[in-house]
Order: sequence, then structure tokens, then C-alpha cells
Amino acid sequence: MLVFAAETSCDETSVCLMKNKNIVDHITFSQEIHKIHGGVVPELASRSHLEKIQEITQKIFKKNKIEPKKIDIFTATCGPGLIGALLVGSTYVKSLALNVKRPFVPMNHLEGHILSTSFNNEVKYPHLVLLLTGGHTQFYLMQNSKEVELLGESVDDAIGEAFDKTAKLLGLGYPGGFEIENRANKGDEKFFSLPKPLINDKNLNFSFSGLKTYINLLIKKSEINDFFINNLCASFQKTISDIIVSKIEAGIKVLNERNINIKALSVVGGVSNNNYIKKNIKILIDRKNIELYYPIKEMMSDNSAMIAWACLKNYNNSKNNIFFKCEPRLRINKNL
Ligand code: ZN
Repeated sequence: MLVFAAETSCDETSVCLMKNKNIVDHITFSQEIHKIHGGVVPELASRSHLEKIQEITQKIFKKNKIEPKKIDIFTATCGPGLIGALLVGSTYVKSLALNVKRPFVPMNHLEGHILSTSFNNEVKYPHLVLLLTGGHTQFYLMQNSKEVELLGESVDDAIGEAFDKTAKLLGLGYPGGFEIENRANKGDEKFFSLPKPLINDKNLNFSFSGLKTYINLLIKKSEINDFFINNLCASFQKTISDIIVSKIEAGIKVLNERNINIKALSVVGGVSNNNYIKKNIKILIDRKNIELYYPIKEMMSDNSAMIAWACLKNYNNSKNNIFFKCEPRLRINKNL
């Protein structure tokens, strides 16, 4: 089966050709235009998607000498995400599918992230999935490969948003994750004691907006120099890491109480790229005797390879739906 997938839910325009379990080709364009604004501007994202998706789609077909009529399934992200951005990608791919009379499968972006580690791992169940992105911070339980249960999520900002907003307050670049990790390497992580909202709560929800407010006030009353920035980045990164590690521990415990013994943990999404957080998750997981999975590098941040894979993995005829309407707040289905 040859799949053509597109992902345009936020500020990455991405197309992928996947044949069975092989990525034939994968092109992702990260929109630079948002850098000057310190965050994604939805209208600019839609315009940029419209321009880029045509260009990279033609490029991927030409480069691989594949014609659209050779594609078995067309798929695109239809939510959650920015509505204008979703409409550009999905409408474009729907028109390609209609033109060559092939099925169109609407894909959930979250499903793409959640299933991304099954591309490069033999996943063991029960399986805990921690999704850490610019738009979502969520815990999912998968008792088997088809059932997904949301255990907890951020009640306000997403974790990636906390990185971006902190970087913006400090005058660092966008996206914030890379810059903060860089600066944190030069700072003292114990210099500032920052709040850890909900860390001791028994539920598996997260909260990051209080941390952002605290940092904002701290910046306003401090002298901003490299010493301050490096120490704040290090302390911020440690705080985020402590929250994540303690919530993973709480997740394992809560499930234990339900007689569910987790065999594996997947950490997915762009923030899973942070080496400091990775190192601390590994220390915890090594003590717990469970397997730890990460996606391959090109499936970490937003990308169409994970959309192609999620489409292929659970494909059946009932998934075809050219009339599916994009939904900016699309939730994950209990049954995949
Ligand atoms: Zn994402």
C-alpha cells in the first residue's frame, strides 16, 4: 500500500510518501515567518501552507517518479489544530484523491503522535503514552493497540507553550525549546526555586500558566543579563522535568491501584527532544523495569510521516470519508 500524507495543523507544512512500513520520502517545511512574532500567527500560517503544500507535493511526486494515480490512499490531518491551516492541507489532499478516484482518510493529529513509537518499536501493553507538544500535554493509557483512554492533561497552557512563552519573555528565539536547553546548559538549575503547580495532586493533570506568571513577575523585577537568563533557563528546565517525572511516577501508581501494570512508556511530541528531560525520565524508568520508547527523529515534531503511519496502521475501508469536516478541537476516539 502506498500512502500520500499531508500535515498542516500548525506551522509545519509536511508531505510524506509511505509504502507499507517504509518512508519513501518525507518533506517538512518549517514556517520561519512566525519567528518575528514570537509565536504562530494563524492567518500567516494558512497563507504559507497554501503556497508551500503545492510546491512540496509536486516536488515529492517528481523526485520519486510517482504519479498521483499510483497512490492507494490519501490522508491528511483534519484536527486538532488551526482551522485555516487544517482546511488548506485537507482540502488540497481531498482534491488530489477525488481527481484519481482514491480513498481519503481524515486523520487525527493526536493519533499520529500517539502511534508514532509503534513505527520503530514492538510496543508492549499496557502502554502509557505521554504527549508533550506545543499544543497538548496529555497522558494516555493503551491497554492494547486499539483502545486509548485519556488519563489526564494540562488544564491551561501546553508544555511547549510554556517553553515558547518563557523564551519570548527572555527575548530568546522561537521556538523556545532549543534556545532554553542551550542556555540551561550554561546555568545553575538550583539558582531559582520556581513553582510546580499540581505536582502533588493525585490526578494526572498538568498546569503551566502559574509558572509562566511567576517567571513574568521575576523578569520584571530583575536585571536581565546572561547570568540571569542562563540560571532561569536551567531552573525552568529542571522544574518542567521534575513535574514530568513526578507525573509519570503518579501515573504508574494510579494504574497500579487499578491493577494495571504498565509494561512500556512512550514519550512523544516535540518536547520529547529535550535531552535533559530525557535523561531524567530514563533514571526513573530504569528503576521501574518498564520499556521506554521515543519516536524516530523525523516523527518527533509535527510531521506527515506519523500521519501516514497512523493511517496505514489501522486502515480499513470504513475509514474513508471525503466529507469529514476539519475540527480544531478534535479529541481522540476511544477506539482507534
Ligand atoms: Zn503535534
